[in-house]
Amino acid sequence: MLGAKAVARAKINLFLDILGLRGDGYHDIRSLMQSLELADELYFRRTDGSRGQVVIRCSDQGVPTGGDNLVSRAVEVFADGTGALDGEGVEVLINKKIPVGAGLAGGSADAAAALLSLRYMFELDIEDAVLVDMGAKVGSDVPFCLKGGTALVSGRGEVVETLEPLPPFKVVLASTGEEVSTREVYQRFDRLHPEGTSRAEDADRAYQALMEGVRNRDFEGIYANLHNGLESATIATDRVNEFKTIALEAGAAAALMTGSGPTVFALVSGMEEAAEVAWELEKTAPVTIITSFANRGAEISAL
Ligand code: ATP
Repeated sequence: MLGAKAVARAKINLFLDILGLRGDGYHDIRSLMQSLELADELYFRRTDGSRGQVVIRCSDQGVPTGGDNLVSRAVEVFADGTGALDGEGVEVLINKKIPVGAGLAGGSADAAAALLSLRYMFELDIEDAVLVDMGAKVGSDVPFCLKGGTALVSGRGEVVETLEPLPPFKVVLASTGEEVSTREVYQRFDRLHPEGTSRAEDADRAYQALMEGVRNRDFEGIYANLHNGLESATIATDRVNEFKTIALEAGAAAALMTGSGPTVFALVSGMEEAAEVAWELEKTAPVTIITSFANRGAEISAL
């Protein structure tokens, strides 16, 4: 029976602006998202006689392996939408490399990898746009994680406009090693911004300048205009500021919190700078990872 191996790439937000609270409780966002080579590995197998059952094993004991796992949710949505798995189940092994609850969309990346693997294993002729719709039902970052690369993301995450990928910049990630609940950060954001938006003139200016930098491949313009409207709502303000300062003093071109945090990413001009920045961050950050921009999201191959 067919099996699949999947690579589920993490993301960072080079820009994130919260535009407003929606009727459904989600927030409308405007973001420039970027895939990273940092990725989980997943192994999928079809199994007989277990009628839609999903059995998950994960290398990280802290990740739920029941119905709460986003891979399980993805299988459910896929099964409902296609009728596949009526007479069988799937087994999934997750080799977790993306820090959990860190603003790097690890769970969403795994769910995107699951949707691509299921389409492949069940040999179904489903268009990418249909998988994107299924992804949006699983989680806001899943549509981006499917194709990945460099993209403008809006709505609550389901509107993805893929751009020409940025070059493979080196990136250093620093994190506290603690899980932060995205929901809690948005709740803090709502308390801090009762008007529902982080939108300010300087954010608008940064967005225009950043997009011009992206279009013209003007890296200084990109470094100077990174922005995250959720930074003010993070529960790890001191640590985030500390990691940013250390990275910049060690020679990073730019440093910013990704998503709902608490991970900070530093953009560096080459491997030597990456090693220097990582060396300094390692002294205080419980998690330090060197990686680079990737020009694609989830990817599958035959087992
Ligand atoms: P978000 O995409 O919501 O910003 P994040 O990137 O900050 O999330 P994740 O690593 O996706 O964080 O984990 C968020 C929560 O999702 C964790 O509490 C974790 O228990 C749960 N979770 C469910 N499935 C997975 C999975 N496959 N991998 C990691 N976490 C998962």
